[in-house]
Amino acid sequence: MPDRAPLRGLSIVAGQDATPVPEHAFRATAAARGAPTDTVFHSASARDVDAAARAAAQAFGVLRELAPERRATLLERSAERLESHSAPLIDVASEETGLAAPRIASELARTVFQLRLYAATLREGSWVEALIDHGDPARTPLPKPDLRAMLVPLGPVAVFGASNFPLAYSSAGGDTASALAAGCPVLVKGHPLHPGTGELAARAIAESVRELELPAGTLSFLHAGGGRARAVGEELVQHPAIRAAGFTGSQQGGMALARLAAARPEPIPFFGELGSVNPTFVLPAALARRGAAIAEALAASITNSAGQMCTRPGLVFVVAGEAERAFASALAAAAGRVAPQVQLSADHARSWSERVAAQRALPGVGELTGAPQPGPGSSARLLRTSFAVWRARPELGEECFGPSALLVVCDDAGQLEQAVEHLAGALAGALWSDAADAELARRLAPRLAARVGRLVHDGVTTGVEVASAMVHGGPLPSSTRPDSTAVGPRALRRWCRPVSFQNLPEALLPEELREANPRRIARLVDGRWQLPV
Ligand code: NAP
Repeated sequence: MPDRAPLRGLSIVAGQDATPVPEHAFRATAAARGAPTDTVFHSASARDVDAAARAAAQAFGVLRELAPERRATLLERSAERLESHSAPLIDVASEETGLAAPRIASELARTVFQLRLYAATLREGSWVEALIDHGDPARTPLPKPDLRAMLVPLGPVAVFGASNFPLAYSSAGGDTASALAAGCPVLVKGHPLHPGTGELAARAIAESVRELELPAGTLSFLHAGGGRARAVGEELVQHPAIRAAGFTGSQQGGMALARLAAARPEPIPFFGELGSVNPTFVLPAALARRGAAIAEALAASITNSAGQMCTRPGLVFVVAGEAERAFASALAAAAGRVAPQVQLSADHARSWSERVAAQRALPGVGELTGAPQPGPGSSARLLRTSFAVWRARPELGEECFGPSALLVVCDDAGQLEQAVEHLAGALAGALWSDAADAELARRLAPRLAARVGRLVHDGVTTGVEVASAMVHGGPLPSSTRPDSTAVGPRALRRWCRPVSFQNLPEALLPEELREANPRRIARLVDGRWQLPV
């Protein structure tokens, strides 16, 4: 049995274990067994939330002045600790979520890679967007002031992770890593579906904070389950010390918390990364020439991790005809070969199956897949409808979070072009096209790009690379902030605001804006990029 000693079932409030309150006890469920796990967890009390937020406000005074090198070291030490605790982390995460150990291991690799990428981003330095416009005291009729600007951190950030990525979008995930990198203390609201994973990952960061003698309020982790599952998050978003929030989860949950953030006496930025249907267009020549191969790739993407991916292709558009019928049966056959999979929780399975059943019950909606396979878990389901029915029923554009998709059959290419105009905002969209589709693809691509955060050609929308040019976000309802990305170095911007410094003497300027430029970061000086070699 792997070592589970670090798991205590307690919140971490500014480096200290919170005192358990017996009436706030709750248990996690092992997704595959549907039975409680061993550990008894205790939700954070209102007092814990307040103490953690106040400690974060204090820590911010130190963090915002901290040299980027020290913040980079915190991220790297946290990554090392996560790796050294990988056995219990993978074990607990697999048990809580039902996701297979290799999938969790690859998510852990992605999580530590992300921490290291942000450490490298801090050392490189240009992420602060340093701008220098030298003054001209001799300018007439008025002297021109010396103006310098850069991004500065906002303050304590509340982080809400999602159930389907217990590591990459949780305690040590993208929001936490980017906020710490930007110089903001973090308060993580634990997810009740993976409280043990969340606590273990948070302990790895808290231990690194302690080792580097940073303020204890740099990171707090607040368990939230049972009767306090919602209250902890609501209290966090409304606490006056919190200056921004990052949320990954459902449209419903994200919008509820976004409204709370906006209704505060002093509203705060709320970055909600939400669910999405990720439209996929298979153009006629590609469909005719390689429909079977595309169907295989799509079926694997739709059913990956029980279909519980925010980037799963949920809507597939094709033009009616023989190639479409062959494609539909290849898609159904490939999806039918996938064994039933356990979902993240019984509630997720129920909610998914109710949503699919409601869509299936609509007139004009048929089913491509056969009877579900026997045994535990959810079998894939593929529905089919016409463009006209899809246009008439907005509920056919809603996310069904599980192994399903809706094939929308258009009468002609003109309807494909109309469809793209009526899509809801999505995290990603895909276009499959051959050379003979070039004209149609050229017309569709910019219009599809206007509806998504990432446009994929000849590939599936699942699989989010952690890289500088990645955009993981999109127009509503896929994200509450289409002007941002949750993945990649530009995610740091979310936790900052720009400040101008006018006519400040060198000694009062932040290091990044001084003439000397000791760290040799790229800057825009008097309208020209200065790229030190
Ligand atoms: P969820 O039910 O919205 O839960 C996310 C978090 O928000 C949980 O901690 C949850 O706590 C809390 N929450 C939900 N509703 C709330 C409310 N009204 N008030 C206060 N807190 C609330 O989502 P999930 O099941 O974890 O994740 C699945 C969803 O996330 C899918 O829609 C998926 O597409 C999306 N997702 C998006 C991304 C992305 O990057 N865009 C990534 C992964 C997943 P409770 O459980 O206690 O309610």
